[in-house]
Amino acid sequence: MKTKIADLEFEPLIKAEAIDERIKTIGKQICSDYKHCVPVFIGVLNGSFLFIADLIKQIDIPCEITFTKLASYYGGTKSTLKIRDDIDFAMDIKGREVLIIEDIVDTGNTAHYLIEKLQVKEPASIKLCSLLLKPASLLKKIDELKYVGFEIESGFVVGYGLDYKEMGRNLKDIYKRVK
Ligand code: 5GP
Repeated sequence: MKTKIADLEFEPLIKAEAIDERIKTIGKQICSDYKHCVPVFIGVLNGSFLFIADLIKQIDIPCEITFTKLASYYGGTKSTLKIRDDIDFAMDIKGREVLIIEDIVDTGNTAHYLIEKLQVKEPASIKLCSLLLKPASLLKKIDELKYVGFEIESGFVVGYGLDYKEMGRNLKDIYKRVK
């Protein structure tokens, strides 16, 4: 069913049940890959808050979690390619196995920025887990991108944490813009 958010129209793209299933699979994979250590998960707010919460519930190995807040869309429908660093974290990640949790990789600019920033802190490894990936929009290759929920086309999406003008984050399904 179509839904309207502010001046734009959206239709369902990925149903909540499919998101749940995919997260269970990724969670199992992460537990298996990181069972030799205590990984640090770094959640990138705001858009990934639901994904982080649901993914972390699937992790049954010892782990730590912290958050950072970055912005590049500022409520619009396109990346401004300028990243604003809103909240940093204080945790010492030197020598730690780090897994960044993102809602969506679009141009790859935000991921690139964060990975470079984290590398200075000398972690043992950095990998990236993103619920969504728009392969046709990628401007930079991201070798650290190890876990992807769904590859989608380059249009604008909302729901399951992702917003348009700060609205739509509460939708259970993911919707794509149609108008
Ligand atoms: P990138 O830096 O890869 O271009 O974009 C990453 C950030 O832009 C994401 O973390 C997200 O906040 C925002 N973003 C990218 N594509 C979309 C989209 O289709 N919808 C929404 N709501 N945000 C997006």
